[in-house]
Order: sequence, then C-alpha cells, then structure tokens
Amino acid sequence: TAPDFNRDGATPMMVQFLELKEQYQDCLLFYRMGDFYELFFDDAVKAAEALDIALTKRGKHQGNDIPMAGVPVHSHETYLQRLIRKGFRVAVCEQMEDPAEAKKRGAKSVVKRDVVRLITPGTLTEDSLLDARRHNYLAAIADVRGKMGVAWLDISTGDFYVQPCASAGLSAAIARLDPGEILISDRLLNRSEMFDLYNEYKNIITPQPAARFDPANAELRLKKLYDVAALDAFGGFETAELSAAGALIDYVELTQKGQMPRLSPPTRMAQGAAMEIDAATRRSLELTQTQSGERKGSLLSVIDRTRTGAGARLLAARLSAPLTDAGSINRRLDLVSYFHDHNDLRVDLRNALSECPDIERALSRLSIGRGGPRDLAALRDGLACAFAIRTLLDHPADNSLDSLPGALSDHLTEMGHHGDLVDLLRRALSESLPLMARDGGFIATGYHPPLDELRMLSSESKKLIANLQARYTEQTAISSLKVKHNNVLGYFIEVPAKQADKMMEVDEFIHRQTMANAVRFTTVALSELESKVSKAGDQAMALELELFADLVNSVLVHADPIARCAQALAGLDVSSSLAELAREQGCIRPIIDNSLSFDIRGGRHPVVEAALQNAGESPFVANDCRLEDEQKLWLITGPNMAGKSTFLRQNALIAVLAQIGAFVPAQSAHIGAIDRLFSRVGAADDLARGRSTFMVEMVETAAIINQATDRSLVILDEIGRGTATFDGLSIAWAVVENLHEINKCRGLFATHYHELTALAAKLAHLSCHTMLIKEWQGEVVFLHEVGPGSADRSYGIHVAQLAGLPKAVIKRAEQVLKTLEKGQQGGAVSKLADDLPLFAAAMAQVEKEEQAAAPALSTEQQSLLDAVAALEPDDMSPREALDALYRLRDLK
Ligand code: ADP
Repeated sequence: TAPDFNRDGATPMMVQFLELKEQYQDCLLFYRMGDFYELFFDDAVKAAEALDIALTKRGKHQGNDIPMAGVPVHSHETYLQRLIRKGFRVAVCEQMEDPAEAKKRGAKSVVKRDVVRLITPGTLTEDSLLDARRHNYLAAIADVRGKMGVAWLDISTGDFYVQPCASAGLSAAIARLDPGEILISDRLLNRSEMFDLYNEYKNIITPQPAARFDPANAELRLKKLYDVAALDAFGGFETAELSAAGALIDYVELTQKGQMPRLSPPTRMAQGAAMEIDAATRRSLELTQTQSGERKGSLLSVIDRTRTGAGARLLAARLSAPLTDAGSINRRLDLVSYFHDHNDLRVDLRNALSECPDIERALSRLSIGRGGPRDLAALRDGLACAFAIRTLLDHPADNSLDSLPGALSDHLTEMGHHGDLVDLLRRALSESLPLMARDGGFIATGYHPPLDELRMLSSESKKLIANLQARYTEQTAISSLKVKHNNVLGYFIEVPAKQADKMMEVDEFIHRQTMANAVRFTTVALSELESKVSKAGDQAMALELELFADLVNSVLVHADPIARCAQALAGLDVSSSLAELAREQGCIRPIIDNSLSFDIRGGRHPVVEAALQNAGESPFVANDCRLEDEQKLWLITGPNMAGKSTFLRQNALIAVLAQIGAFVPAQSAHIGAIDRLFSRVGAADDLARGRSTFMVEMVETAAIINQATDRSLVILDEIGRGTATFDGLSIAWAVVENLHEINKCRGLFATHYHELTALAAKLAHLSCHTMLIKEWQGEVVFLHEVGPGSADRSYGIHVAQLAGLPKAVIKRAEQVLKTLEKGQQGGAVSKLADDLPLFAAAMAQVEKEEQAAAPALSTEQQSLLDAVAALEPDDMSPREALDALYRLRDLK
C-alpha cells in the first residue's frame, strides 16, 4: 500500500497529496480535510493499527483502492501522543486558505495546503505531549576529525547546552541526558564504534545527512540566531561542539518550518564538571528511574519535594549530573542550609511556589507561534509570583538574619522586575480564557475601547434579533414561532409545518427551508441584523487577534529576562525542597572538599528507608563507612539478604546527593569530591544485546578498571559470580588487586568468596568488613549492621528456607553441606555422591519427622477443619456464605 508516486490520472487532490507525501516519506502525513486529519496509503494502514481506528477507502490510485484513516482535529493531540510514543514521526499538513477562496478559482481547484510542522519525539511543545516534570531533550552527536562533541536542547523550555566528549564517555553522556531523540550523521553512525550506541538507542536515533553537521555552516547559523558577530561571548567552542549545535538548530528549523523557538545561548559544560556516571551505574543506582524503567521507587521519586514543573525538571537534571567542583557544590549547599534554618521563610516560599505556573513552557509556545491566551495568563501569574517571592526573600521575616547566601542574591538578581508586563497582562486578559486565540473573547472589557464598541454592536444586534421574535409572534399570532440560529442558515424564523401557510401569505417572510415538522423563513430585517452581528463579530475577532499578537510581542521582547527569572524560581524551588526533605528525613549538610576523604557516619539508604517506613517495618539500621588511609577499599562478606547491596548502594547514593548539593541521610559526612562513580550491583541478563550476565559483568568491570582514578568511587557486588567458582574467584582476586594497586580508588567490594579476605593481610589499604548476624534458638537473625572482620558462613540455606523452598530440599541441602565441609577438610569432595544417602531416603526421613512432630488434633478441631474443607465458596450465594459462617462459629 505504499503510494506509487506516479500522478498520471490522479485527481487534483491526490496529486497535491502525493507531491507533499513524496517530500515527507519518513513521516506519517496528517492531511487536513475540514475537521479531520486524513491519512492515506501505507500511513493509513500504520495509523489504523497503532491507534486502533477504522481503516476505510477513498477512491482509487493506479487502479487500486486507496486506504484511508482519519482523526478529528479537535481531539488529534491524544492520537499524536500515542503515535509519537510508538516511535512515529508526523508531518502536519494544514489548509493554507479558506476553501471558499479555492472555489472562486474554479470548481475543480484544490485548497492550498502545506506542511506546517514535523512532530518528532525530540521537538514537542504541547503540554499534552510532554511530561511537566521532565525535560525532553533533543541531542546531537558530532565528530570532527576524531574529536567528539554533544549538544542538546529542550525546545519546550529553551535550554541549550554543548559539551566536548571523549568517544569513551559518549554513552555515559547520552545516558545522563536520557534524550527523547538523538541526531547523528549517517556517516558517523556507520562507524563500528557507534554500534553499541546504535543498538541501545535505535528507536530514538534520527540519522541526518552529514552535510547538516558542517561546522562552518553551524557557526553562521549560531551567529545569525543570536545576532552576534562572533561566538566568543558564549565561551570558546570546539569545532565538534559547534557542529553538533549547528545540526540541532538546523533540525529545529526543519521541523518547525522556519519558526524558531526562543533558545537560550548555548551554555558550555566543561568536561569533568559533572561527576561521570556511566549507563550501567545509572541503571544499578536507580537514580531517576528504576531498573524496570519506572519513576516510582527511584532516588528521584523519593527526594522530590518540588512544587513546580520547572523545579522538578531542574532537580532531575541536577541529579543526573552531580557536580565535581567543591566550590560550586558548597554554594548550592549554602542555599539549602539557609532554607533549612529558616522554617517560616521556607514554608512561605513553598506556598508561593505552589501558585506558580510553568513559565518556561508557556514562553516557549508563545515564541514559536503556538501559544494561546492561557499561556499569556501563565506568564502573568508566574511573573506576579516571582515578584511576591522576591519581596518575601528580600525582606526576610526574621531580622536577625545574617547576609543572604551568594546563590540567593544571585537568584534574586536574575528574577528581575517584570511589574509593567504583569500590569499590562492583568489589564488585557479577561477572567476566563479559551485555549486558542482564534476562539476569541479573551481580551478584557475596558482594555481596548474600539473592541468594546464592536462587541457592543454585536450584542445590541443580538438583543434586537431576540426582540424580533416577540414582534413576529404578535404579528402572525403563531405562539410557537421561534428565532433560531445554526451554522448553515445563520438566523432564521421557525414555525411548525402546519402553521407554514399562514406565514406564506405574508410577503415579509421569505421561505428558506422546509423540514419534516417545521418550516424556516427569514426577513429583510433579520438578515440585516444578522449581517451586522457577523460583521461586528468578524471585526472584533480580527481586532482581538491583533491585540493578541501585540501582547505576545510585548512578552517576547523580554523573553530572555523572563527565562532567567523562571530559572531562578526553579533554583529556589529545588533548594527549598531539598531543605524540606532534610527537615523531614533528618538529613545533614555534608562537608565537601578536594580531599580524598570518604567518611560517612550513621549513613542510611534513602529509598530502602522510605520503603521500610511506608511498610511500617522495623527502622532502618544506620551504618558507618570510612574509606580512608589503611581502609580505602572495603571487602564486605556476609550472607545473602544481610544487607550488602543496600549498604553498597547507600554510600554511592549519599555521594550523589552530596554532590548535587543536597543534605544527606547520615549523622555526618565528609566527602572529597568524587570525579567518577562506578557501581555494579546486581546483574541482569542483557538478552536484547545477546550477552550473558557474565559477559555484561566483564564488559562493565573492564570499563571500571580502565577508567577509575584515585578520585573515583567504585562499588562492586559479587564480581565473578556468573562463572565457575575458581574462574570467578581468580577474576575477583585480580580485580581487587588492580583497584588497590593501580586505580587507587575508594571502593566497596562485596563478595561471596571468603577466600578473598586473605588478601587483607597483603594489601595495605584493604580492610575486611562483614554484615553482622545473630544466631538465636537455631534461627538466624540479620542485624543489618556492618562490623569489622569477615563472615565465617554464608547462611545460604537459611535464606533458601526463608524463601519457601520445601523442607525436604532444605534438609537435603544441609546434609550435602555437612558432607561437603567434611570432605573439604579431608580433601575428598569427589566422593560426595558416595557419602550421601539417596534423595528419596532423605525425603522419607523428613516426612517421618514431620508426622512425629505434628501435634494430634482434638475431635472438635478435626471436625472444624473438615467443615471448612467441605465449603465450596465459588458455588455459594452471599447469603449461603453468611449462613456457613454462623454454622462454623457454632462448631467451635
Ligand atoms: P544482600 O545484598 O546482602 O543480599 P540486600 O542489601 O538486598 O541484601 O538487603 C536485603 C533486605 O534487607 C533489604 O531489602 C532490606 O529490606 C533489608 N535491609 C538491608 N539493609 C538494611 C538496613 N541497614 N536496615 C534495615 N533493613 C535493611
């Protein structure tokens, strides 16, 4: 059903369709026909399947039926959302003239149409297509003579960044951004080192012709966009960064059909400014989403107390890119401390923020010509909010306050003054506002006298029309005569069919339409009034649209300061919400410097702790972790379920929180800023890429060995588990030695191989720790406490029992273990099978023991049990069930 672009014999409309479709073959073409967007040929088949809508036919092309499907214009956003989610791109083709105009050119001529916008996953602006609390980045990757650069922007907020990038760090950079769409030149994409990236992100990669990445062209585009003679003002860019940024701008122009949204000047992120966290580490730490891809249960979901969409987006962005510069981290911490210490101020600020609409997204829609009256109102309210907040923070309620923290003063400066604009919008906009400007009625009375006059004219005439009904009723003595309105006839007089003759006799009434039960008329007076109404209405509409454009302009001349104000508000939201979190969860301010310390006292895992709180279980057990001097590397042993992974992860999470400038769940924390964080905790088969758990583990371990520095923090759980014991142990052994001798990083290493603890005697900075256990009346109790030394047993069988493995299997395993332990001492493991009784014998033994242990039941108990067993709940009516309950009670 792909169209044959041969246009011979096609209808004029089909010719037009094919011409457009030929240019947008990689998109579904939404072809506007009146109140519908229609899809034809293959597009129709795909859309019908993806949206579960009817597939029909319309005419023939080259002798074959043309498949067709359509979605109503008024509800098309829901359909768009589903198509975009499923990875489609959509070209929206609108009617560019009134169909009446086309008719004037001749009966056969087609309405002019053109594609006004391409909708792709990375270029969305509609609230309905976006998540308010997440950025939606469009990213581009460029390579110029072996140097790579990444650029990314969010057209819904105007954020725009570039960053140099080593090819080894590319996948980590993309994982950090978690973009909605990635642009990459087809030439680069074909290179073998891009293979993994392609596999990981093929659903969101949009290959581009290499020409779009031309650096010289990029420079010209950037200069033109920002109207500057040189780009130096933005900081020096490397050629690869320029190339990526240029490709982004090119693509935005292409998809927005020349309507450029407001974009902040590109900010350059220096390499090393953000803690490097690779994709595997991000997944394993569940920073912004869990391993199954949900937000709930992630670190972000547990710490997010922000009150605005912009705040939530900023927090997510910060969490994805913790800082490495101690000075910048401390500046953020100063602000959190300030709000932490000033409770009333924080509460007032957060209440004010709750009222604040999404300024960034409203501004972006207005800048791209897609905004409506409600976006103007969002700016009015948002900027008014900013004013209130500025007043609040500039005049702190508490007089004893020391000088404001630097970050706060900066935020206040950035917020600027927008009083005049707020006043203008307050005067201009009416109380209730339509979504679209073309729906009219959004300009307040009194704002523009000529508009008021037109509106008066139209409403006066409407009143006169209403009066006509009374006059005609009296004149004709037909009490059921009504003046009505519809879109086809306009105003008309309607009487029941049997009264029609009476009307026909009067010359004044002109017949318009005969229906089954009614007949419709008009009069000269009615048509005159009607044309007055519609003329005044049209004029008022045109005037309102003009006023709308003026208002949008007055906003857009301040676009940059407004965007900075929105950013400042987002910053205040993040800082105050982290302070709120700290108060609520008992978090403390970490000490961050350039040392190589890692000293956490009484640390907790924020997500596990929250889960235990919610479930009402026993409180989380806090643990210390000091990775310094003679104990830079910790080797942790202990049974499964004792809390090893929780302990490992909690220390990584504390480091991340500290370096985004948040308070941390601990009694005290001193961290020398970490440059890279590696975590390998818990493995999952990567079947999609055809790699076994073991292979994945080794690939990731290799990355750690190759990249970790003495400023890095490495967290490894059970390296080598996925292979034979001796292999695994040998690999784990060698990895520990390498981390200790070569990488010299701070690290936590959890293992089942107790043999590794022997290394502690040889390696100066390695120390052994274990999860403490208490054995009590034959039961094992996990204390979740980390203590010095190493575990002497694994307690694996105990955990198996907890998990509900049948008793027989447990007993059997205990037998095998005993024999094994004996055998190991005697060095005769190979005789294992000979030394053990048969499995069946072991089972029989268990059964016997169980019977012997089972207490005898009394006759009453037995009859009660029998009665319960005889019940058939599925066959009972509620009444019967109730009766049965009574009977059972009497049996006791
Ligand atoms: P391991 O890695 O040793 O198998 P986990 O870290 O997965 O064990 O912990 C198992 C469970 O024990 C967790 O899901 C949590 O419910 C509980 N747990 C772990 N650490 C603690 C702690 N410090 N305090 C309280 N409960 C804990």
